[in-house]
Amino acid sequence: MTPDDRDALVRYDQLASRVYGETRMPSGTRDLILALGWVTLRDPRRHDPTRSIWERTRDVLNADNKRIWQLIAEDAPRYDVRLTEANTLSGCQAPMIRVDRLCGRSTMHGFSEFDPATGWSRYWGFCNRPRCREYAKPIWERARHSATKRPEPIPNAGGLLPLFFTWGWEAKYLKAAELIHTIHGWKPPSYGLSADEWPEVPGQEKPKAFPKLRLIASEGEIKAERAPELVTTSARAKSFRSNLHAGQQRSKFSVVAMPRQTPPTEGDRVT
Ligand SMILES: [Zn+2]
Repeated sequence: MTPDDRDALVRYDQLASRVYGETRMPSGTRDLILALGWVTLRDPRRHDPTRSIWERTRDVLNADNKRIWQLIAEDAPRYDVRLTEANTLSGCQAPMIRVDRLCGRSTMHGFSEFDPATGWSRYWGFCNRPRCREYAKPIWERARHSATKRPEPIPNAGGLLPLFFTWGWEAKYLKAAELIHTIHGWKPPSYGLSADEWPEVPGQEKPKAFPKLRLIASEGEIKAERAPELVTTSARAKSFRSNLHAGQQRSKFSVVAMPRQTPPTEGDRVT
């Protein structure tokens, strides 16, 4: 075993340990991260120039291109309204008089209110009783104004793949959005693609940064010739608004671009 192999072994171990410690990670995302880690750090064929990272990842997951794009789509960094509205109590939310509980009768009027700091929405529902409608009135007014002042919502889903790897994610998510209807029309959030870059929201635990493993890409192809390289978060731009940063990443890629040795496959084309 060479020192390089030993180093890769330790890195893979750290990656797996970190991934298994991330309790909110969807299982598909976990599979893809572990597979990407395996094919770049441990796979005996990782130095084979005829097999791209994409192809070997597809092989170890026993998946087709569509499945890989689905997994990428599931990790698109985004605000998922269901996650903030789903925990709303069902039934009328007006308080009862003299009793310490909410009315709870079936809802006749419902609307969303947007948080001026996070842009997240919360659902309000009220029944048809005059007293409950009266209670709802100022809330409805406030909610109506909150819609016009709503900032871009801070993402609360996805963004985990960029936490571990640098791999031209913006282009990948955009391509996934073309192919997979569930994220059709996806746009990169201005807060950044990686979940550790998003502003902290009170009451929400933010994923911790992890040294990012750079996957080498050139002209939309994924190259595996070079030994993997860890990019530390401190070396990255400090600002969480990383759209500018994405441009710098692309120029970094062009530095390591190598002449094309294999024809690109459908899966590798990301532009
Ligand atoms: Zn009520």
